Amino acid sequence: MFAKIRNELTLRYSMVMMLLMMAFIIVSSTGMLWILYREEQQDLRSFTEREAREQTAMYKERAAFFQFPYQEEENADSGAKIFYYVFDKHGQQAAAEEAEGGIHTGVLGIIGNWSAPDGVVELKKFHDANGDRAVALLCSMKIYDGTEVVGTVFVGENISSYYQRIKILLIMMVVLCILFLVIAAFAGHFLAGRAIIPIRQAFSRQREFVADASHELRTPLSVMLTSVDVIQTEEDQKLSPLSIQVLDDMKDEIRRMTKLVTDLLTLARADAGAVNIIKERFDLAIVAEQVLRSLQPLAATKGIELAIAGEAEIAVLADRERMKQLLLILIDNAVKYTPAGGRVGVLLKTAAAPKPCVTITVEDTGAGIPDDQRALIFERFYRIDKARSRQEGGTGLGLPIAKWIVDAHGGTIKVTSTFGEGSSFIVTLPV
Ligand code: ADP
Repeated sequence: MFAKIRNELTLRYSMVMMLLMMAFIIVSSTGMLWILYREEQQDLRSFTEREAREQTAMYKERAAFFQFPYQEEENADSGAKIFYYVFDKHGQQAAAEEAEGGIHTGVLGIIGNWSAPDGVVELKKFHDANGDRAVALLCSMKIYDGTEVVGTVFVGENISSYYQRIKILLIMMVVLCILFLVIAAFAGHFLAGRAIIPIRQAFSRQREFVADASHELRTPLSVMLTSVDVIQTEEDQKLSPLSIQVLDDMKDEIRRMTKLVTDLLTLARADAGAVNIIKERFDLAIVAEQVLRSLQPLAATKGIELAIAGEAEIAVLADRERMKQLLLILIDNAVKYTPAGGRVGVLLKTAAAPKPCVTITVEDTGAGIPDDQRALIFERFYRIDKARSRQEGGTGLGLPIAKWIVDAHGGTIKVTSTFGEGSSFIVTLPV
């Protein structure tokens, strides 16, 4: 149980760490990219405006565009190169500082399909002359002579190497985060183990207390029961009808308490792993018939038909006493929660596929179990109708014990039920 809690804590801790790291990568990288992109955008727009202004002035002076190198504008840090192209009103290239690094053709292709308005910077991805991925920022601006458009200037920046470096940085961040996540998962597992120590100690003290208390209570309870029996036998003639009734009620309560204490002790020992499952080969059908016979009188008093069906011989390797206890709990419950005139059936079957197993089905035509409570009935002291359970001598510990027995044999227990019509408890045990 504690190993499960520890693993769950580790998993949750790692999930939180993973979400935090993912949020960190997403926020930091998008923030960083956005700031860089905005800066580059603004720079390129002002370069384009300046270029357009100069070309306009030149056109007015000489009726032609001019060509000048853009050396001073190069962004030395990033290795990004500024380039520009001027096209006249006929779409002929009139001046240029050509794009370098094999992207010239790609850039011209983009310019050929250019549709963005003046001053808008666009990020374009394409392939360079070597087939490698290239990334460039481009901005255009029309050149006017009065109101007439005489040409267009395109200014661009090759940011491929820049882009590549950011990509490597991001990959590094992701790899580092995965590494930290693995370290955090180990640390989480270790810390969860430390955090569980006091809980484990408290739990085991409480378990010991329940086991000791139940054990100590068993003797006084059996003494009390015997004492009431002695009084009833010896003082039989002298007792008033009220006293007889009181003593009978006392005996009922003592039996109920004895059952409760025995069930508590079984579960406390099971929790502590102190109950040995002694497996032997036997015929489950014979054991089921024995249990059925022992419950037949109770069923008869309630007017319930109790029947067994299925294979006549079922060889199993299991703990005989625990199997008896399991069948007793399930059949006794079926009889308890089925009204007079109802029917309780036990079906024993073996199956070969998907894995060889034995199934025990206990079905009744009783009260049924509401959908939302089907999983809860296997919890300790959970009872759908407390008054009814008490009246039937129930403790709320029968099904938890049944589940423990099934788990200890590596099997499963399931319940299907239609509320108001009946229930079926299906136990599957591996062979
Ligand atoms: P109890 O001692 O009260 O019978 P159990 O652990 O055996 O405790 O069962 C838990 C609860 O599940 C019962 O109180 C009852 O409400 C419900 N229950 C168990 N078996 C049946 C059944 N065959 N039909 C209807 N309800 C059932």
